Amino acid sequence: MKDIKSLTLEQLKEEMTAIGEKPFRAGQIYKWLHVKLVNSFDEMTDLSASLREKLAKEYEITDLKQLEVQISKEDGTRKYLFALGDGNTVESVLMRYHHGNSVCISSQVGCRMGCKFCASTIGGCIRSLTSSEMLDQIYKISADIGERVSNVVVMGMGEPMDNYDNVVRFITMISDENGLNISQRNLTVSTCGLVPEIRKLADLQLSITLAISLHAGTDEKRKSLMPIANKYSIAELTDACAYYFKKTGRRLTFEYSLIAGVNDTEKDADDIARIARKVSAHVNLIPVNPVTETGFKPTAGRDTNAFKNALEKRGVTATVRREMGRDIDGACGQLRKRRMENLT
Ligand code: SAH
Repeated sequence: MKDIKSLTLEQLKEEMTAIGEKPFRAGQIYKWLHVKLVNSFDEMTDLSASLREKLAKEYEITDLKQLEVQISKEDGTRKYLFALGDGNTVESVLMRYHHGNSVCISSQVGCRMGCKFCASTIGGCIRSLTSSEMLDQIYKISADIGERVSNVVVMGMGEPMDNYDNVVRFITMISDENGLNISQRNLTVSTCGLVPEIRKLADLQLSITLAISLHAGTDEKRKSLMPIANKYSIAELTDACAYYFKKTGRRLTFEYSLIAGVNDTEKDADDIARIARKVSAHVNLIPVNPVTETGFKPTAGRDTNAFKNALEKRGVTATVRREMGRDIDGACGQLRKRRMENLT
């Protein structure tokens, strides 16, 4: 059975034409799937019974099952654990800001990038998510709170550039005016730095924000934290970032998790500032979330501010990311990991 919720409106039009239907049927179906969020063809009441029957034979409408939700008493952050159709689980997080609701979604079940500080990668990558599985994380959360989601960050479990086609299709669909119509400007995709995919994405000239997980200012240090640094040097990554900026006109963000005694010295700030200035990137600082297996400790608040000041003194804008939902399983992958441990 084909996954109808993963088809863009364009693709759906082609499918309709192929089965001898009028292309405008695609628009109707797209609305049912992505705005009215129905789970069966029978509910698509403006289609003929025969078309509904035909669709039900060819296509399935995938859905997620909410297994768990943790709600932060401090700031209302909600962390969800969803089961996919095949029983695998992913996490998504809702953060409530003054400017609207922001959802952080997963792009893979697990991850194969192996970053030393990250909980999502501990069990490796089981599989990539389909576009519909990414969309459904947002649809489910929006339905759960009865409010619109205004911002999306692809910063949950998985490496989005390791699932390039499905992620790009997801971006097209979530920003489609016939669907949820979330502006691409309110969409952020975070990558550990897959250089060829960054260049490919640049060529699409989307209006999304690209975030690069940098975490170190020299190749040597980056290699000790992130295996991907063995494949692409910081120089190659910086070139790809410059290309992205040139092609899209969108300023990049560097994600920088501060780990006590590892990457939080003045020299680190100096290295990072040089790279950030080269591509006009903004730096997002976040004290590393402790994960039992990693042994890493977060940089203290005072030193975090000192790091921010050191960057600013060198002409780089930086923000310290507010830590949301600290009283629930904070770091990416932790809720899923805990549940798997309980099961085995
Ligand atoms: N694979 C993508 C997106 C998922 S991770 C990427 O690497 O960008 C989202 C962000 O959280 C990345 O910047 C990642 O490096 C960071 N991260 C992972 N584990 C963390 C932890 N324990 N503490 C703080 N940040 C973490």
